Amino acid sequence: MADFSGKVLALAGGVGGAKLALGLSRILPPHQLTIVVNTGDDETFHGLHVSPDLDTMLYTLAGLSNPETGWGLAGESFRVLEMLNRYGAATWFNLGDVDLATHIRRTQLLGEGATLSEVTTELCQRLNVRHRMTPMSDDPVRTFLKTDQGDLAMQDYFVRLRCEPTAAAVTFVGAEAARPSDEFSRALDEADLVVFCPSNPLLSTGPILALPAVRERLGKGNPARLSVAVSPIIGGEAVRGPAAKLMTELGHEATCVGVAKMYQDICDVLVIDEQDSESAPAIVSLGIRPLAAPTIMNTEEDKVALARLILELGGGFQHDE
Ligand code: GDP
Ligand code: CA
Repeated sequence: MADFSGKVLALAGGVGGAKLALGLSRILPPHQLTIVVNTGDDETFHGLHVSPDLDTMLYTLAGLSNPETGWGLAGESFRVLEMLNRYGAATWFNLGDVDLATHIRRTQLLGEGATLSEVTTELCQRLNVRHRMTPMSDDPVRTFLKTDQGDLAMQDYFVRLRCEPTAAAVTFVGAEAARPSDEFSRALDEADLVVFCPSNPLLSTGPILALPAVRERLGKGNPARLSVAVSPIIGGEAVRGPAAKLMTELGHEATCVGVAKMYQDICDVLVIDEQDSESAPAIVSLGIRPLAAPTIMNTEEDKVALARLILELGGGFQHDE
């Protein structure tokens, strides 16, 4: 049993992040964990505020997620979308019938003046999610990609065009003026252990790190805090999604060493997959401690085992002090 008694801040996007966050939530009591979620993917569809990564995290922690896809709800149907299609609406973004209730409720509460943090807390409470999850910011931040098919909003690129365009740059519109949410800011001050979940470093943790002063506040300068990242890149490939393709297109090395370079100033330990153990010396030379371990999380046992390994690192670090 991990005897880690400190506070954990986990940074996450959607599917990859939610896997590890679920593992952490199975071990840690609610008061020890804050999960901060990317909102750069947020988009308005059919007049509704959709927060894809918050929804993935919410459904995962609530035990409602679709185990096949990792996103959306289990047992979902798409009848509303079929009808919207008959009306001539653009229906390339998959919104399930039950899922739509989340977006309707979120949009309604935002319209009544609630912040996205408040809405998230309300949705969590209603679904009996006791661990704290919070949007990275209550201010709008939108991820755009500059590509050979023009400037594309994140969902346009990711879902409508299936990540096919070649990207030249990623931008986070609104990030400079956005503030970290209150819970995020509190966790930045209080965390004893920071965990970078194995999320897309460009599209998921990228927007979080683009918020003012976040990189500095996460910096390695704090001797009382350990920062552990898990590589989403295994054997030069993403487990799923465009992370490796995008890293290559944007001039990064699409390996766990490339991930280490992106997190060089903010990460003490990088957990790499056991099949990448030969990359360990290159990571050491970047000033990061590599730890090779099984990092493919298919089952709940896999998720808990990886979470436990990270908390043991944190526990060992606490005792070393
Ligand atoms: P998205 O917002 O749904 O795209 O999700 P994230 O950004 O959180 O996660 C996508 C990233 O997670 C991809 O780069 C995947 O390679 C990575 N990923 C997904 N599943 C796993 C896994 O089981 N282990 C590891 N190490 N990475 C994973
Ligand atoms: Ca996402």
